[in-house]
Amino acid sequence: MPGFEFFGDAERKQVQDVLDTGVLMRYGFDGMRNGNFKAKELEKALAERMQTSHAQLVSSGTAAITIALASAGVGAGDEVILPTFTFVASFEAVLALGAVPILVDIDDTLTLDPITVEEAVSSKTKAVMPVHMCGSMADLGALKSICEKNDLILLEDACQAIGGSFDGKPLGSYGDMGVFSFDYVKTITCGEGGAIITNKEEFVKNADHYSDHGHDHVGSDRGAEGHPFLGYNHRISELNAAVGLAQINRLDEFLSIQKKNYSILREVLEDIPEVVFRRVPEGGIENYSFLSFFMPSEELAKKLHSAFSEAGIDGCFYWYDNNWHYYRKWEHLTDRKSLGKLPQEVLDGLQDFSKTDFSQSDYWIGRNISCLIKLSWTEDEVRERAEKMGKVIRNVI
Ligand SMILES: *Cc1c(COP(=O)(O)O)cnc(C)c1O
Repeated sequence: MPGFEFFGDAERKQVQDVLDTGVLMRYGFDGMRNGNFKAKELEKALAERMQTSHAQLVSSGTAAITIALASAGVGAGDEVILPTFTFVASFEAVLALGAVPILVDIDDTLTLDPITVEEAVSSKTKAVMPVHMCGSMADLGALKSICEKNDLILLEDACQAIGGSFDGKPLGSYGDMGVFSFDYVKTITCGEGGAIITNKEEFVKNADHYSDHGHDHVGSDRGAEGHPFLGYNHRISELNAAVGLAQINRLDEFLSIQKKNYSILREVLEDIPEVVFRRVPEGGIENYSFLSFFMPSEELAKKLHSAFSEAGIDGCFYWYDNNWHYYRKWEHLTDRKSLGKLPQEVLDGLQDFSKTDFSQSDYWIGRNISCLIKLSWTEDEVRERAEKMGKVIRNVI
């Protein structure tokens, strides 16, 4: 997955353009910037690649989720449905708005189970946020129907699946809004950065203003601009945007390398009948950033994870025991450990995690192993790795 593996001359050249003028901010200073608008250019390139009318570049993927929800009018006490298997950023962004994250089970896609989503919809629900974990997507068709029926926003977190698609549409562009992260370990990187994509004019305007203190960006005097509503500062710097501009041009090259490496590993593992691969919803195409599969039991998955480590096979994750990606280790959320007092709406609205039953999620995540696909492997290295993985799995079984 990581674009940082390929940081090179193209990235240096883009950053040098910015260093040559010293204009590090995306807004204003037009006379000094020698025609360099790296953030704007990256927005244009991203929107084009993702087939949306607009992209808003911001400081991180976490910021992008917050801004997307804010742009859709999500606020205090509103409920946002999200999966038990994600990154902590999902509920952080919801909480930042005083809104309430409602966790629901995943299924064998490793993403939101539409059935559990439908059960969780209440009169307070405002948005459903599928998270396309580890390179593959939720059943977006089913989720869209639920959202349309209940008048909810469908916000796709495509931070880990940029370049994948569903029903011929790039991931992130299928719902009302989509978000990406360009942090240092994502498929393409800005060092730090994120983006929102959408076709909805109102969200475009709201995201543009909200991410820059509410600035309406009208006229050429920043100090005289209006502020139609409250915002925040989630701006990206030109230096970060410059790196991303070089990387987006390489996205399709990165994806084809990922697919090639993924396919070599998968072919070998497919010969082992006990290994079952994660389900990709019909109409979906992965971005191949991870190869994820299920072992016959939790015990065997744990055993395999240790065996991979012992055999020197790195980059394979057992999410069930992970601090950042699975609800079991989120005691800061479930025990409500915040620095200051949380909004009353949040305290009142959070699920009682001593009573929730996520055994369906435990069933799938407990048996899952996800292996990161690297870009920098040579073909020989991938083949050797595939062989070794196959041997270790057969041994464990
Ligand atoms: C990385 C990531 C984020 C957050 O992105 P940052 O740019 O690191 O803030 C959000 N959701 C998912 C699924 C991610 O993998």
